[in-house]
Amino acid sequence: MENYDLIIKNGTIVTADATEKGDIAVKNGKIVEVSVGKPIEATAGQEIDAEGLHVFPGVIDSHVHFNEPGRTEWEGLETGSRSLAAGGATSFFDMPLNSTPPTVDKANLDIKRKLAEEKSIVNPYYWGGLVPENLADLKGLHEGGVIGFKAFMSPSGIDDFHNVDDETIYKGMREIASLGSLLAVHAESTVMCEQLAEERIGQGKVSARDYVESRPVISEIEAVRRILSYAELTGCKLHIVHASSRKVVEVINDAKQRGVDITVETCPHYLSLTVKDLEEQGVIAKCAPPLRDQDEVEDLWTAVANGEIDTIGSDHSPAPASMKVISDNIFDGWGGISGAQSMLNILLTEGHFKRNLPLEKIVELTATNPAKIFGLKTKGTIAADYDADLTLVDLNESFELKKEDLFYRHQHSPYVGRTFKGNVKTTIVGGNVVFENGQPIQK
Ligand SMILES: [Zn+2]
Repeated sequence: MENYDLIIKNGTIVTADATEKGDIAVKNGKIVEVSVGKPIEATAGQEIDAEGLHVFPGVIDSHVHFNEPGRTEWEGLETGSRSLAAGGATSFFDMPLNSTPPTVDKANLDIKRKLAEEKSIVNPYYWGGLVPENLADLKGLHEGGVIGFKAFMSPSGIDDFHNVDDETIYKGMREIASLGSLLAVHAESTVMCEQLAEERIGQGKVSARDYVESRPVISEIEAVRRILSYAELTGCKLHIVHASSRKVVEVINDAKQRGVDITVETCPHYLSLTVKDLEEQGVIAKCAPPLRDQDEVEDLWTAVANGEIDTIGSDHSPAPASMKVISDNIFDGWGGISGAQSMLNILLTEGHFKRNLPLEKIVELTATNPAKIFGLKTKGTIAADYDADLTLVDLNESFELKKEDLFYRHQHSPYVGRTFKGNVKTTIVGGNVVFENGQPIQK
């Protein structure tokens, strides 16, 4: 009889293909056996009874800003990773900016990696930056193991991470294509956003609606069309992050039809918050691209259901409360939503329970697709030989999100006060429990 490290018994196992009741056996951090319909008869160091629970592949959050090193008063790898574990995520891809130094060369990547390996309770991965100053460093970053590169087409708001001009886009994409990597872009038009903001601020029009109108959907579309031209010219694989509207997604899908190697992400906030939330909550709900109106939210859900979206990432982008104070001028104050802990909750509550989105689809968007697109060959599903990164969820349990439940460095989030259906009970990374009984396990 086999002796395993861990057996999860009687859970309802969800993958991108099916939802079936069964047992999962784990040894040395890997899933070694998945048995549907017949129990695994073996001994194990640890047994978890998952009767009544759903077992998901751990969420891979491909878009977070943890700000470490250098700006840990904003977040940090320890608090950030604890929040992810509490939300059912087992891996994250940290963006190259907001940390100081930013991840724009191999030496800076090594600094971040060392800290993450020390502090993170979930699996860390890293985006490398593409900025006008670092074309010579892309190869080193790639060889250092970044999962891809990230560039901003409009100002990032961070002084040490410049947005790319068209020449950098061209040269960078040529290089990234030759490395066999991919480029993720924040696609908004600098000229459109700056002109529209300037006009409004000049007239003293600084409400939530003014901010949203200063960053219209057409500005995203303009930037996506331009970067698409360079993708077609250079053959560089492209990933558009945080599309806020199905109209943006449509441009991307047209390109897919033409054979362009492109994928698109949206975020939980574009699927669950509107301009009204920005009006009510102020800077706490400020982000770029901005929140849209309810019809855009519904259209985006249609895109999700139709398979037009490839990944969902939280774009967790926290800041200290002092930068989030409600002022009369929404243009002031840091843009960025704290949401990493709530991503799965939002998809279950707003997607599965409210709009009948299949659980399999949620797995596809949060685990299977990110693993596939970014080359994590042993992650993203529940099957033998895959890493034992698992999330146990009670789909019958509802809870109201309280400030005190947040494990972020700063306990603010536009989702505080919301009632979610589906509660994460246990999170397992490489066969080890990292979250249970409402608490992350100290590393
Ligand atoms: Zn971001």
